[in-house]
Amino acid sequence: MNKNYERPTLSIVAPVFNEELILPELYRRVAETLDGAGENWELVLVNDGSSDRSFKIMSELHAADPRVRVINFSRNFGHQIAITAGADYAQGDAVVIIDADLQDPPAVILEMIAKWREGYELVYAVRKQRKGETWFKLFTASFFYRLINRITGVRIPLDTGDFRLMDRKVVDVLREIREYHRFMRGLSVWVGFKQTGVHYVREERFAGETKYPLRKMLRFALDGITSFSHLPLQLATYMGFIIAGLSVIGIILTIILRLSGSQAFLGQASTLVAVLFIGGIQLISLGIIGEYLGRIYNEVKRRPLYIVREALGFAAEVETAARPASPLPPSADAVA
Ligand code: UDP
Ligand code: MG
Repeated sequence: MNKNYERPTLSIVAPVFNEELILPELYRRVAETLDGAGENWELVLVNDGSSDRSFKIMSELHAADPRVRVINFSRNFGHQIAITAGADYAQGDAVVIIDADLQDPPAVILEMIAKWREGYELVYAVRKQRKGETWFKLFTASFFYRLINRITGVRIPLDTGDFRLMDRKVVDVLREIREYHRFMRGLSVWVGFKQTGVHYVREERFAGETKYPLRKMLRFALDGITSFSHLPLQLATYMGFIIAGLSVIGIILTIILRLSGSQAFLGQASTLVAVLFIGGIQLISLGIIGEYLGRIYNEVKRRPLYIVREALGFAAEVETAARPASPLPPSADAVA
């Protein structure tokens, strides 16, 4: 337990996965910005199973300045889960989520605070320009956000990431949501409240490399779509109707051609193509069901979202209270 624990006004939460080159600079920039504005803050660093010296550096930062607080996961649980843990442990009246790699400039936090003090409960940062990203990333990201807005009920503002400020009210609601496949930027819009955006230029990564290879990006995109939309599941029905309609036309056409003595549909190629086509569609539909089924399976297992090996600098009751919601208590007959 930490006797000197002081509840901050503002919690800055940064997920960290192998960012040893960045941490001291992150701390320096956050401290410089917020101290300069006279804010009372804490920096919650979540070590998402880094294999480099990140945790050691975090511990040193914590030792030098107790406003730096550290959550150390038992292994890598993923970016979205790390953000969740940070928001669980953060005690501020407002919580800011920021990438550790300084692509989200800490100076923007001041603009967010200003909006928050005006009465907004969620202030997200909109990228008006992104530096140092590949065209592939820019293109896929822009496509993805337009797609998800089209097919889901949540209106995720275009070109926003996880960089955002959330009022305590929003954080408390989010803490109740314990979905395993979480798409935080969607959830924080889904909860509602008074929302607004501030514009910023997304900088290049300060050092190191992206921790989001294509494989993880695809998973992330799928999580986003499946958590807010059933449309992919319904696609099988639509395609079924379309293909059934086409085949009825095909049948009629064949009969007419046959009756008029044409040889157009002799041979096996056309049969084979049709069968393979339907086979492909069926496998794709099964795969889509599989995506949902796997996610349902993961949700019903109700495993904790993350496992904390140690937490540095938090009040004891914070640690206990912030434990992930436990599964439903066993029913009486299960115990008997
Ligand atoms: N990150 C994490 N766990 C992971 C992957 C990434 O905590 O499994 C963190 C990473 O350290 C960074 C943030 O999430 O602070 C965003 O990752 P990154 O900058 O690599 O993504 P990009 O900006 O390239 O999309
Ligand atoms: Mg980044």
